Amino acid sequence: MVKETTYYDVLGVKPSCTSDELKKAYRKLALKYHPDKNPNEGEKFKQISQAYEVLSNPDKRRLYDQGGEQALKEGGMSGSGFSSPMDIFDMFFGGGGPFGGSRSRRERRGKDVVHPLQVSLEELYKGAVRKLALQKNVICEKCEGRGGKKGTVERCPGCQGSGMSVHVQQLGPGMIQQIQTMCQDCRGSGERISPKDRCKTCLGMKTIRDRKILEVHVDKGMVDGQKITFGGEGDQEPGLEPGDIIVVLDEKEHEVFKRSNNDLIMQMRIDLVESLCGFQKVITTLDDRALVITSLPGEVTKHGDVKCILNEGMPQYKNPFEKGRLIIQFMVNFPSVLPPELIPQLENCLPPRPEVMIPDNAEECMLVELDPEQEGRRRNYRNAYDEDEPGHGQSRVQCATH
Ligand SMILES: [Zn+2]
Ligand SMILES: [Zn+2]
Repeated sequence: MVKETTYYDVLGVKPSCTSDELKKAYRKLALKYHPDKNPNEGEKFKQISQAYEVLSNPDKRRLYDQGGEQALKEGGMSGSGFSSPMDIFDMFFGGGGPFGGSRSRRERRGKDVVHPLQVSLEELYKGAVRKLALQKNVICEKCEGRGGKKGTVERCPGCQGSGMSVHVQQLGPGMIQQIQTMCQDCRGSGERISPKDRCKTCLGMKTIRDRKILEVHVDKGMVDGQKITFGGEGDQEPGLEPGDIIVVLDEKEHEVFKRSNNDLIMQMRIDLVESLCGFQKVITTLDDRALVITSLPGEVTKHGDVKCILNEGMPQYKNPFEKGRLIIQFMVNFPSVLPPELIPQLENCLPPRPEVMIPDNAEECMLVELDPEQEGRRRNYRNAYDEDEPGHGQSRVQCATH
């Protein structure tokens, strides 16, 4: 014999019913009394949900059969231990429910928040700790996220606690349309607090904006776009696991160095005398050391030549003693004019000019400065001309590549 039959009575089943009969009874009643369909029967909906939650769980059902509601209370399984009627409903119908998907599976986790952080190449080279100040929502400590004094939060009468209101529209004979919207009275929370009980700190919002300082550890060798995750530091909301704060590194451009993976690339201007007769140069590294480079005796450094220094590039992430290369591209500053009296002296130093045979019928031409704009116009004209003439595609390609 069972001690109490209240839960069985609520569901309209016998205490000896099978779990299948229980399910059938709940399904029928839950659909009938769902707040979306029957907004005035919220209490009934809650009762059948509670009854079903207890009876569908073999342990709870046994406890209830032996000692009634009192036994459940003592076993810590009643009161606040109950899930919300909506949760039971959603679980039973596999989320979404039969009345459209808008009240579907609730998000259990808040959104991730992404913060870009500008970092210099020096910081990525040496590593750095950066402080990032940001605003985030935190649960109000005063009311512990309830929005008001304990016990003053009641179910919203507008939506019976579902947070949704449903308008039924008759479209024609036997045809109705249900429009589900967020309850305006409670803005979807399903709860109501009378203004006098509202928490003064958060004004009933349950959360407050707070300033938070995050220490971002920029490790040696990190790269542009790399993400540093602060688990659970996102906005807090009651009943929701906070999302993460994700800091995304944004590498600032450097005046001297460009980065290519772990290599650093720089251009170095040298004068013609250095190009021909050799040079010594000093490079200041990202950690402020001075590197001296010296050309080999007798070696000519041409415009555009590329050399590199091993192990002076960027440190490898998580293996910072291994570094990439420092790649140097030399650019030669040529003098724009030379004093004519110097030319014979130069000729003495340099290898002789090649001799040129000039045919008798050669024409004398003027060399003029190339005006890039004028040249562009000329090419465009030629392209247009080629397009007009079928079969000249070949010459157009040639023009483009010249
Ligand atoms: Zn509060
Ligand atoms: Zn409401």
